[in-house]
Amino acid sequence: MVEPIRKTTREERERFIKEAHYNIFQLKSEHVYIDLITDSGTGSMTDRQWAAMMLGDESYAGASSFFKLKEAITKITGFEYVIPTHQGRAAENVLFSYLIKAGDIIPGNSHFDTTKGHIESRKAIALDCTIDEAKDTQLEIPFKGNVDPKKLEKALAENAAKIPFIIVTITNNTAGGQPVSMQNLKEIRAIADKYNKPVLFDSARFAENAYFIKVREKGYANKTIKEITKEMFALADGMTMSAKKDAIVNMGGFIATRREDWYEGAKVFCIPFEGFLTYGGMNGRDMNALAVGLDENTEFDNLETRIKQVEYLASRLDEFGIPYQRPAGGHAIFVDATKVLTHVPKEEFPAQTLTIELYLEAGIRGCEIGYLLADRDPVTRENRFGGLDLLRLAIPRRVYTNNHMDVIAVALKNVFDRRESITHGVKIVWEAELMRHFTVKLERL
Ligand SMILES: *Cc1c(COP(=O)(O)O)cnc(C)c1O
Repeated sequence: MVEPIRKTTREERERFIKEAHYNIFQLKSEHVYIDLITDSGTGSMTDRQWAAMMLGDESYAGASSFFKLKEAITKITGFEYVIPTHQGRAAENVLFSYLIKAGDIIPGNSHFDTTKGHIESRKAIALDCTIDEAKDTQLEIPFKGNVDPKKLEKALAENAAKIPFIIVTITNNTAGGQPVSMQNLKEIRAIADKYNKPVLFDSARFAENAYFIKVREKGYANKTIKEITKEMFALADGMTMSAKKDAIVNMGGFIATRREDWYEGAKVFCIPFEGFLTYGGMNGRDMNALAVGLDENTEFDNLETRIKQVEYLASRLDEFGIPYQRPAGGHAIFVDATKVLTHVPKEEFPAQTLTIELYLEAGIRGCEIGYLLADRDPVTRENRFGGLDLLRLAIPRRVYTNNHMDVIAVALKNVFDRRESITHGVKIVWEAELMRHFTVKLERL
């Protein structure tokens, strides 16, 4: 699908963003020129995916579309049990309803916001065990999304009884779309086995992760993406999936596992929350498109084309000296806002301020992955300023050309050139208790 081009003037954008309370989630898409808010559900489907939609079986129970999907998932992951859900967070909700209770601790690499939300809303703790190197945006290492085995082992040694499972996010979205190495996945598995704990992969971008393993990790250059994904999932007990990412559908997700107890436990929550077990929140036609998308996007050429486009944008930013999380991630560039807007104090949310500036500059909608998204500490209710404060430019799959990447880079350069004059950020005037970034109301200072 393509969309008509819609341009706005700077005066119009001033008005639109003010009406949106300086929250880009509240902007109308028709007021956005290039939309980098997310790569989730925003990709273009292929001819084969559209064709598959025409064959959707919309039967309430036992639809052939479900069995096609299940077969595709089992082929790629090796997991035998599959529960479809309407998107990734729904998979988390269904599975976590069974797995997590108050007081539990869930260690892993940087938990994604909905994952953290579903853990914390159950009065459990999302314990971030990402390697410290991930916090240094200028450090170039190949697998910056890795779990620190020492931190993980410490968590288990101290609190094994409170830990129902370990979660590994592939790729590590919050740390900048950074991959996790096969070696790290093996280390995590060994620690998990030592303490007899299951491992769950939050798998939204598992195919991009496999691409990075192929091109960066010794011993994988001659393996296919499908061989690598099989090897990755062999190290997990199950997965939650947002199919809106690496399966390139507009809506969809699933749980897949080899554990019968997880399947039986999650089933009970799927039916009331999502729907009957052979559709779980999806149409038959959408399950068909998902099955094709999974197959197509676990092919090297497709992944390479996408990731090279993200690299291209990174190379343009390098020309201008704009700091971002290095090396470029799989699905997005994460601009290090605290290194750009050095005069905006953290209490005034530099990454959100940069997001607003980029929209005003050129109608480009990025997304804050920083102090707003980090929410408040559930106990102290203080803002969490401990992590990174980034402006994420997520690139939708198969939607934009490298010409668009040039426009993005130059727009950001224009903001970068006047960074010294940006001395004030924003303040919160209203916020929700959890996942506040979606609905927060802000004022410019
Ligand atoms: C998008 C995403 C989710 C949540 O999936 P939705 O489909 O948006 O509900 C969970 N984990 C990761 C890593 C994601 O990127």
